[in-house]
Amino acid sequence: MPRFLVFVCRRTRAVALAAVAALAISSQLLLLTVGAAEPERFVIYINWDGFRRDYFDWAVAPGGPGAPNLEGLVSQGAYFPNAYTGVPSVTTAMQTSALTGAWPETHGNVGRHYDAATNMVKVSGRFNNVETVAEAAAKAGLSTASVQQFVLQGRADTYVQPGGRFERRVAEALKIIESGMPEFLAIYGDDLDAAGHNGLGYGTLPSLAEPSWRRKMASELSRMDRALGTLLDGLRKLGIFERTTIILTSDHGMTPYWGRSSMPELLSQFSRAGLKAEVLDMDDQPSSATDAIILSTGMAVQVYFLHEMDRARLDALAASIAAQPYVGGVLTRDELDHLGTSPLSGDMLVWPEPPHHFSAKDVLFGVGANHDGRHRSSTNVFMVLSGAGIRQGVVIEEPTPIIDVAPTISYLLGIAPPAGATGRVLWSALSSSANPGGPLTYGVDSER
Ligand SMILES: [Zn+2]
Repeated sequence: MPRFLVFVCRRTRAVALAAVAALAISSQLLLLTVGAAEPERFVIYINWDGFRRDYFDWAVAPGGPGAPNLEGLVSQGAYFPNAYTGVPSVTTAMQTSALTGAWPETHGNVGRHYDAATNMVKVSGRFNNVETVAEAAAKAGLSTASVQQFVLQGRADTYVQPGGRFERRVAEALKIIESGMPEFLAIYGDDLDAAGHNGLGYGTLPSLAEPSWRRKMASELSRMDRALGTLLDGLRKLGIFERTTIILTSDHGMTPYWGRSSMPELLSQFSRAGLKAEVLDMDDQPSSATDAIILSTGMAVQVYFLHEMDRARLDALAASIAAQPYVGGVLTRDELDHLGTSPLSGDMLVWPEPPHHFSAKDVLFGVGANHDGRHRSSTNVFMVLSGAGIRQGVVIEEPTPIIDVAPTISYLLGIAPPAGATGRVLWSALSSSANPGGPLTYGVDSER
């Protein structure tokens, strides 16, 4: 099919109809070709919440339970072993980042924050300021569907929320695919997140120590891999596997922790600096004597200074906190700016060195786990692109942020990226046939 026609069809159906009408005059043959046209490319975006990259290594290691379908995607696709998330590394903020191609400073979903105007702690819920890749696709006349990818609720043509394990979501996805494959389909599964937090989730039980937690996570991944295999088989049976790009990634990893909370020691660092720090929970208001509000989103903390802090004092406090053995790292506001973190997330981020933690409760029996820090176990996520338009068998070691997902999906669909996207197209993953339609305007790699 001529490149021009493919391009027109994929971009907007209204334009396509006009083109067909015009061409009908000059060429009956071309008209028939256009009428029979099916989309050249489908993109399935799968996000497994809390898919720490290591789970894959544990599952496929000798003696592990295996993950043959993921291994197939990796060996036939482009694997990004150093993919990473942003700040805060929490579910909705990062799910939104992957689908908008932008960090929280742009989309405004920050998990939870202290709101100075109301003097209260607020949660972002599903707030999102900007366009998602589904809306960008719809604007270009493409069809979109989401199986429980909640960021796209009300933003995709079709949205279903079957609940349950990933197997059930694959069954719903196959129903959608069989009734007419949308050009963009998102599928969300949170089995790994539920098991990883080490509570009671989707039939898994808490592990009592990290080695058994690791075994549990490898076996959960192996189960999800089988469900992924069911989806891939469905695509093969329908004869659209070769035209489908699969992108599978995650929003954050998972870091186990245990023992007493290091929050009392952290608070003492503030008092030594002459500051009264107060830990706030939901619906709390700070006392009038408070200088710094501390908000925990799990195992790390966000700090909000209520009075002007001069640079030297701030640097001295950050340095003394960073030197503590239970601290994994400290970022001040200017450093958070470089990571695309919203000002709502506070003036300072402090995360623990595992197994230490700043949780509200001590963990004196068993293992807790969370993912809001900057330890690699929380920030390094699995990411693979495989199938139509993707180079085969390449491992791209370059650290790659999850905000590159939406611009890359856009390129593969032949549409403009979401309006607020600051991520890049992952050119290194794309084959020469990545975009048969050819986009209107895509410059060279933009600066992050
Ligand atoms: Zn999550």
